[in-house]
Amino acid sequence: MQYVKNETNNIFFDIDGTLIDTSERHYRIYKDILYSYGIQKIFSKRKFWNQKREGKKTVEIIYKKSFKQLKKNFAHDWLTKIEDRKYLKFDKLFSGCLNVLSDLKKTNDLIFVTMRNNKKNLLWELDNFGLNKYCSKIIVGSPIDLKSKVPLINKYIIKNQRGKNIIIGDTEMDIAAGKKLGILTIASIYGIRSKQFLSRLEPDYYLSKLSKLPKILKRVENDSIPEFKKT
Ligand SMILES: [Mg+2]
Repeated sequence: MQYVKNETNNIFFDIDGTLIDTSERHYRIYKDILYSYGIQKIFSKRKFWNQKREGKKTVEIIYKKSFKQLKKNFAHDWLTKIEDRKYLKFDKLFSGCLNVLSDLKKTNDLIFVTMRNNKKNLLWELDNFGLNKYCSKIIVGSPIDLKSKVPLINKYIIKNQRGKNIIIGDTEMDIAAGKKLGILTIASIYGIRSKQFLSRLEPDYYLSKLSKLPKILKRVENDSIPEFKKT
């Protein structure tokens, strides 16, 4: 399928790590969990993020590997804190976010896709940032079932057929979902994973800064794009 200029496209935006910088929230929760197990020697934020970006699980980013109790409970502790408003307030919008969305919304259908448990706090956060007015739909999957993104996006595309379907996200799950659906994939490489890590999934494009997205979409104009695969 060829892209037709000024055609309305479905653009699926991951939220955390793509529109919103969650690095401070993640780091604070990581630290607070480790402290709660009496662990005092903790990596700096930079070292923590370098390891995350290379694909390391958060629970593995500890100096000593012998905290069995921590390993056992980490996922539970993480999930109870990760969407708490006390921590959500440390999130920030990536530079240029609102301008980019407002510009793209003129000619595209913008859909936010996220994996969160607490929908009320998600809407609270989107409202605080003024993000909700830019999207036509918010698709919320379960953070426990990371593959739930695929059927939800699939359903949306079938109902809302547009010129082109594009997914933008910062994790391997976002790119894998896009590949599975046969839609165009753009990897935001300023979020939770590095370019090197995401490159093994062979995304169609890399986005080094959110503000560069309109430029990338211009480049997409003349590209042939994958065929949507109904799943
Ligand atoms: Mg993300």
